[in-house]
Amino acid sequence: MHIGFLGLGNMGGPMAQNLLKAGHQLSVFDPASPAIAALVELGAAAAASPAAVARANVELIITMLPAAAQVKSVYLGEDGLLANLRAGVMLIDCSTIDPLSAREVAAAAAEHGNPMLDAPVSGGTGGATAGTLTFMVGGTAADFDRAQPTLAAMGKNIVHCGDSGNGQVAKVANNMLLGISMVGVAEAMALGVALGMDAKVLAGIINTSSGRCWSSEINNPFPGVLENAPAARGYSGGFGTDLMLKDLGLASEAAKQIRQPVILGALTQQLYQSFSAQGNGGLDFSAIINLYRKDA
Ligand code: NAD
Repeated sequence: MHIGFLGLGNMGGPMAQNLLKAGHQLSVFDPASPAIAALVELGAAAAASPAAVARANVELIITMLPAAAQVKSVYLGEDGLLANLRAGVMLIDCSTIDPLSAREVAAAAAEHGNPMLDAPVSGGTGGATAGTLTFMVGGTAADFDRAQPTLAAMGKNIVHCGDSGNGQVAKVANNMLLGISMVGVAEAMALGVALGMDAKVLAGIINTSSGRCWSSEINNPFPGVLENAPAARGYSGGFGTDLMLKDLGLASEAAKQIRQPVILGALTQQLYQSFSAQGNGGLDFSAIINLYRKDA
């Protein structure tokens, strides 16, 4: 299939590579990515603008952009996709944005005759490279079925979450819980160690008891508990504090628009905002434990 791909950053670059490896033909655009050269070497055609991708006779377009502002400009702008695209071409936005913006862009696409899915991912850059991402997909069941084989070249779990925007709903709800649970684990680990317990023994108890969760078991924030977690390498790599802050902001914003309380989500957002403001935005989000450790 001839696919247009826009946004070739840390996630989009490897995702596009997996589409090429699966035998698809690609027309790609990114205003500033070192990934373009590697993709062209693998056979992709570089386009000069979103409009050029739209006019390249593609059958499907995928975007993986930083935030809602770029998604709106790429889809709705004068030199953007919809203004230059023939009806019928399917659109899939994999960026993480707020559900209401996703629904707004999908409605504009539908008016133009283009079916659109929101399909944010989890699995990070490792999952993008390995082709094992989870896709949380919002849109009609028929469009989901049509897109499924293409998404399968980039991911392992591809889940239809319901109507337009619901992929983003699943993503923000999950990541808000992840942020809250990480702060909870950090607080509990720091308390236990400050009261005299060995961190590894405490983590072992939690992970075989009712406090167990992904943040305690797979990405425990206390250094020395897990050999391969970011905590073991000065919190480098992993899922950045600023990316977590972005997702908590999306959850709070979506909640505000429908007057839904997210009390712990908002508190967690403020903790990450303060941690980021102290210059820690690039550290893995488990480094939030440093807010609690007197010795850190
Ligand atoms: P990134 O900043 O590495 O890549 C974004 C790319 O989009 C950049 O190359 C940028 O030049 C390009 N871009 C900006 N404006 C553009 C435009 N108008 N047209 C085309 N390209 C444009 O970001 P990333 O880490 O690849 O993340 C992309 C999305 O995936 C974000 O929404 C992020 O929240 C989400 N996400 C990231 C991760 C992760 O671990 N990095 C995990 C899950 C989801």
